[in-house]
Amino acid sequence: MTTAPLTLVRGSITDQSVDAIVNAANSSLLGGGGVDGAIHRNGGPEILAECRALRAARYGRGLPTGQAVATTAGRLDARWVIHTVGPVYEVSTGGDHTLLASCYRESLRVADELGARTVAFPAISTGAYGWPMEDAARIAVETVRNTETAVTEVRFVLFDERAYAAFAGQLH
Ligand code: ADP
Repeated sequence: MTTAPLTLVRGSITDQSVDAIVNAANSSLLGGGGVDGAIHRNGGPEILAECRALRAARYGRGLPTGQAVATTAGRLDARWVIHTVGPVYEVSTGGDHTLLASCYRESLRVADELGARTVAFPAISTGAYGWPMEDAARIAVETVRNTETAVTEVRFVLFDERAYAAFAGQLH
């Protein structure tokens, strides 16, 4: 095991051809907006069906923040979706960066369990959950650089120029 090379692309995570696509889910696992909405819209009903089954079997109270769990990727060009729940950032108190780091670490752990070699990540927590982009990019890149994995490509998929620039700024 070693650490995974990082790549950056600007675009939608649902357009990626990789072994596993990471979803910035919420703990209900039953869908939402942003990345979550795009994944369910483009991936089709199979993903939601598996999420419902996971809720019924293992996560009756929802997937805890910072953890990760895999389902089928439905019609997406991937084998799996790895759902992870980012922490919410509060303007007054900030957010728990250990939980944001945990999202990346746990998603890579699940990827290794599955045998996924290429993994696409969105900028977790930087949308509805309000995490400042520069800080989220730093935590994402540092965590992936410090996590041992058999994954051979971690691709950060950034939706807009601002997000892309924030991640690019962390790579050198
Ligand atoms: P969270 O609830 O964890 O904040 P969001 O999905 O609201 O997650 O947003 C996370 C980041 O993903 C934001 O920077 C948002 O602009 C971006 N984003 C939204 N849709 C997509 C998409 N289809 N592909 C990649 N990134 C996306």
